[in-house]
Amino acid sequence: MEAFAKRITLLPPYLFKKLDDLKKEFKEGLIDFGEGNPDLPPSKNIIKAFKKALNKLENHRYPKYRGELELREAISEWYYQRFGVKLNPEKEIAVLIGSKEGVAHLIWGVCDKEDVYVTTDPIFPPYLNNPLLVGAKIFTLPLKEENNFLPDLDDLKKIRKIKLLTINFPNNPTTAFANLDFYKDLVSLAQKYGFFICNDNVYSEIYFEEPPPSILQVKGAKEFCCEFHSFSKSFNLCGWRLGFICGNKNLINAMMRIKENVDTGPFKAIQEAGIYALKYEYNFPEKLRRIYLKRQNLLLPALLEYGLEIKKPKATFYLWAKLPKREKSLKFALKLLREKKILVAPGTGFGKYGEGYIRVSLTVNEKLIKEAISRLK
Ligand SMILES: *Cc1c(COP(=O)(O)O)cnc(C)c1O
Repeated sequence: MEAFAKRITLLPPYLFKKLDDLKKEFKEGLIDFGEGNPDLPPSKNIIKAFKKALNKLENHRYPKYRGELELREAISEWYYQRFGVKLNPEKEIAVLIGSKEGVAHLIWGVCDKEDVYVTTDPIFPPYLNNPLLVGAKIFTLPLKEENNFLPDLDDLKKIRKIKLLTINFPNNPTTAFANLDFYKDLVSLAQKYGFFICNDNVYSEIYFEEPPPSILQVKGAKEFCCEFHSFSKSFNLCGWRLGFICGNKNLINAMMRIKENVDTGPFKAIQEAGIYALKYEYNFPEKLRRIYLKRQNLLLPALLEYGLEIKKPKATFYLWAKLPKREKSLKFALKLLREKKILVAPGTGFGKYGEGYIRVSLTVNEKLIKEAISRLK
């Protein structure tokens, strides 16, 4: 390995490797609640729109770096209908090849080596691994049960000279829900101390009570904040790779300076299908919410009976389950895999505050959920 860049040695070892190896062994009859990978099909009409877009010669040429203006206009309109926030399609929106690449490019464009970067623990791993590669000074805010898995803002106030804070609500993996008051408090801290905030709102359409707000609904938030959105979870288009960033134009410009040197934006036919999704299939997530809720109502009571402790999620398609008797996450997950051929994600894959928890993804159909329940009995 010495011949390659030292930075790759900075990345933590892959925690799920042991599980992955075992997963291969148990291919037959495995029920996989491990990955946050939507199993339901996308809308037939969106696929039709994509097929139609494939036949246009123009769509096979290089796309615009920030995405086609027509898609950015559709995003702007959707955002206004959904959150009541006006976005300038030219300056305050950029289209992404899935939000994950945006996470990487934003962090590379905003943070220098030694800059103070803050995120939460647990967290979706790219929010920790990219600042590690940059060489930023990383601080994490624990998400604890006693605080409904929201960060304690007094912890945040103790950190000096913050450059960028990244958060993700509704949260993967804890399913925590942030309301507008929480965002207001955060934005006023950002105003006071002069740092940037990025919220990952890719689960904005997967909710079971009130719809999750956008951080950009807070007055003045656009001066400091941006937000990620994705077609992956809302429209089951995860394999297509389509998402967007919106909000503060300087943050978006910084991200674009890196991104322009890495990729050239999503395939134009996919962007055209994205326009169709936002304009004509904006009710599609309602179908998903109904199905995920049914699955939740089926599995949650069975897991409680099995001895796990779970709060009913307000949003996301996960269950964040506390293990009995302070059992260790990885050990529990391995046991479940060996004894029941049921795969779950150990909480420690998302940070040390995930210890003692597992994440169960409801991206498994009802028939298999029932089979899993009978195995647990
Ligand atoms: C699934 C997920 C993503 C990935 O979204 P893409 O748009 O498919 O890249 C981003 N953030 C979080 C928190 C996720 O769970």
